[in-house]
Amino acid sequence: MVNPNKVTERLFQSPSKYIQGPYAIQNAAKYLGKLGKAPLLICDEIVWGIAGKELVSALEQSEFKVHRAVFGGEASREEVDRLANLGREKSSDFVIALGGGKTIDTAKTVADGLALQVAILPTTASTDAPCSALSVLYRPSGEFHCYTFFDKNPHVVLVDTTVVSKAPPRFLAAGMGDAIATNVEARRCRFSTNFGGGLQTEVSAAICEKCEEILFKYGKQAYEANKAHAVTPALEAVVEANTLLSGLGFESGGLAAAHAIHNGMTAIEELHSLLHGEKVAFGVVCQLVLDGVPTTELDRYIEFMLSVDLPVTFELLGIPNVKDEELRRVAELACAEGETIWNLDRVINVDFVFGAIKAADAASRDYIRRTGWKKN
Ligand SMILES: [Zn+2]
Repeated sequence: MVNPNKVTERLFQSPSKYIQGPYAIQNAAKYLGKLGKAPLLICDEIVWGIAGKELVSALEQSEFKVHRAVFGGEASREEVDRLANLGREKSSDFVIALGGGKTIDTAKTVADGLALQVAILPTTASTDAPCSALSVLYRPSGEFHCYTFFDKNPHVVLVDTTVVSKAPPRFLAAGMGDAIATNVEARRCRFSTNFGGGLQTEVSAAICEKCEEILFKYGKQAYEANKAHAVTPALEAVVEANTLLSGLGFESGGLAAAHAIHNGMTAIEELHSLLHGEKVAFGVVCQLVLDGVPTTELDRYIEFMLSVDLPVTFELLGIPNVKDEELRRVAELACAEGETIWNLDRVINVDFVFGAIKAADAASRDYIRRTGWKKN
């Protein structure tokens, strides 16, 4: 968040334990036992059917007393308060998040409010929410509301890749959209403070680079494996890139324009059905334009996004007739005070951002025309 205080300390933070592998949920008791015995389990109805029952039976065999709370669907302040009251009523001694990004962000905020530890069990690799000590809250209408920050990162993050491989491939692709932003954003905020309030360490920059390397190497292959519900080395690598590397990378590296433009895009109602990473993917193209990268470099990213069906034009985003006034509003919100766009090591104003949004769509359309790319 810029560096007005001339911060000189480097800072890196992370969860205490990260576990990933096929059928990992069956071993949950082994990793969660130190957190307590009476967890509040937050998951929605769909996830309950996919992985909830299996998790609860694994925990009950080890004498956990699980209280299940049904997640309402939006990571809003109202939903956090409702679930926190439930946790208080049931005297829960830790919180489990089982599900996607919004479930995770909600559970982290609930746990923080109750001063309890939290274990994160993502059922998709669709965002980098699991590892960080912050949440994004939305208004009940779905618009971006604010970032909230916690003292601690989640204690345990446990990813069952068998469960992830059964989720629709669109989720994995969205996770890649979120993860491909990590290095693009972090490399442009070397002189700004990260989410922990310090400067990047050498390891955070290395993690961001490794994250991007994995996506370019294995992203497409993992996407195809996911379509076949197959757990492969490529899928494992991409799940780790989307969840662990992207999570550590953005938190201790820093966010910049791609996420600020994503946050602005949440003001367009037609985009509410899109996943976080799908909008971030478009934000990445916008930031690369703002960064002034050469066309060959821009093409490399656009090609990657299209290979996993991430939307990089207004048409692919589902807003072919979006008006300039709406895009200007997105640019204004992206440039709001306190937004991560101010971490960028270059001059920023609303006009530049508005121009970059228009030019990102134009560059991607040009790429599609030149290469004859077609949606499968
Ligand atoms: Zn993100």
